Amino acid sequence: MDRSRAAAAAVPPQRRADVAAALARITSPARVSTTPPDRVAYARDLWPRGLLAVRAGDVAPFPPDAIVWPESVAEVQAIVRLAVEHGVPIVPFGAGSGVCGGTLPLRGGIVVDVKRMRRLVALDAANLTATFETGILGEHLEHELGRRGYTLGHFPSSIMCSTLGGWLAARSAGQCSSRYGKIEDMVRSVEVVLGTGERLDTADAGAGADLNQLLVGSEGTLGIFTRATLAIRPAPEARRMRGFRFPRLAAGCEAIRRLMQRGLRPSVLRLYDELDSFMHRRAGKAAPVPVESPQEGSMYARMLEVIGVDQPPALRRRAIAALLDRPALLNRAVSTLLPRLGAGCLLVVGCEGERRLVEGEAAAVFRELEGAGGVDLGPGPGEHWLAHRYDVSFGLSKIFDAGAFADTMEVATTWDRLLELYRAVKRALAPHAFVMAHFSHAYPDGCSIYFTFAAAVPGGGQYDDGARAAAERRYDEIWRAGLAAAHGAGATISHHHGVGLSKAAFMPDEHGEAMRVFHALKQVCDPHGIFNPGKMGV
Ligand SMILES: Cc1cc2nc3c(=O)[nH]c(=O)nc-3n(C[C@H](O)[C@H](O)[C@H](O)COP(=O)(O)OP(=O)(O)OC[C@H]3O[C@@H](n4cnc5c(N)ncnc54)[C@H](O)[C@@H]3O)c2cc1C
Repeated sequence: MDRSRAAAAAVPPQRRADVAAALARITSPARVSTTPPDRVAYARDLWPRGLLAVRAGDVAPFPPDAIVWPESVAEVQAIVRLAVEHGVPIVPFGAGSGVCGGTLPLRGGIVVDVKRMRRLVALDAANLTATFETGILGEHLEHELGRRGYTLGHFPSSIMCSTLGGWLAARSAGQCSSRYGKIEDMVRSVEVVLGTGERLDTADAGAGADLNQLLVGSEGTLGIFTRATLAIRPAPEARRMRGFRFPRLAAGCEAIRRLMQRGLRPSVLRLYDELDSFMHRRAGKAAPVPVESPQEGSMYARMLEVIGVDQPPALRRRAIAALLDRPALLNRAVSTLLPRLGAGCLLVVGCEGERRLVEGEAAAVFRELEGAGGVDLGPGPGEHWLAHRYDVSFGLSKIFDAGAFADTMEVATTWDRLLELYRAVKRALAPHAFVMAHFSHAYPDGCSIYFTFAAAVPGGGQYDDGARAAAERRYDEIWRAGLAAAHGAGATISHHHGVGLSKAAFMPDEHGEAMRVFHALKQVCDPHGIFNPGKMGV
């Protein structure tokens, strides 16, 4: 990130005051902020590279000039026109749970936080659709539907801290995507404010190209989503969870492929590689762990356990430094030892829906898995996963505390390339970071792989400027190696976290000549170039 360039483009103080005053006239003084705490709070998202900067004391490398909380589409339109008039950037903001730097205000400007636009606008029971304003948090959206007997079926691990607008912008996937699809499969129409201030409602457009799919995934670079109509389902009456153990990863992958291609649609399908399974194994044997001990099941907590972070502080730092400074050795030791321990690979599977249909589907799914060589472990591992499905990141700050950093890389490809993708990315990451993976989000034509990795901060986690620069170099090297390997194996560089700032440089490789279409689309939707500069390579 070039900080001097960002500073040079920042809005001058007098213009900042004029813009804030105009924003207050459009909305209300209480719904505009230029205070330092708010500008710091909105200067980042949950991109782990940004967290390295925070640890080093650089809490807001790119603060916005102002934050505004509109309450209607008319206000959003007026804000966009104001930004055009003053030539200041706009960063659309949901809940800031993005992990790719997508909301960083690289050139300052106005952060438009749509969380006050959070109503359920309409529910059409005859056609099974619901229209929401896009600032609604995921958990509230599910609650609104749940108390009326419906579900969207979209359960990202970040459901408590992400919004419908963020989901649409980043093409999010929930934990039950194998049954319900990703957010782009659920969307029926969107209302969006473009960079001209015009309001576009795709419900008004029928024949021809699907405008929804041109806009969904645009990560705030083309417009601000203000409403969306989504396909909903009756809330499931019943759910059956199970765990299976496969002797090898390849057998588990093959079993999932067969299930999906037979037309079965389990809601949950998660296959853990040997290392990740090793950490799950005890949970499968034990009774389900109570919900009150949430870190028990999180993926970072599992990684912490493996590398010994749950030790007293002094021991912990030494253990981390010693182990993570030799990632190649550590990865090699783990891959040699684990097969001897016979951990195998754990598959967590779940079926849900109408009671009688679930019984039939679960029986067929479990039979298929056993037929493919899976050993039935009973409901324990599945119930345990379900009770801890949102714990995912509670261990992340502990990893940073221990003088290391961690991140996740979610790539996807077709079935014929899946195992090669796994091997290629692991090979590429192994010299730099300790790595484990699971396979989830399976479809008839392919599957996603979710790598979790941790690496030491050079210098044992003392975050002075030199150590920060070295840690950032290591971080960038890991990503470059991993994404190049994914691209080389014919995979996409992101299944559901999006591109943001972190993967922007890889967009030309990903799309080749088709990048011209993105640039042209940007010209049409955002002719003044005010939306989310520096993101997605456009
Ligand atoms: C612990 C954790 C677990 C996660 N698990 C998952 C998961 O299971 N599945 C998954 O898909 N993702 C997951 N994520 C990533 C993240 O939650 C998603 O990318 C989510 O879609 C971001 O939503 P948000 O509202 O927080 O968006 P933000 O982070 O605020 O914004 C993300 C991008 O969308 C743009 N944007 C936001 N709102 C709008 C809008 N109304 N109009 C136009 N553009 C907008 C922003 O400009 C930015 O580019 C996880 C993140 C964390 C931290």
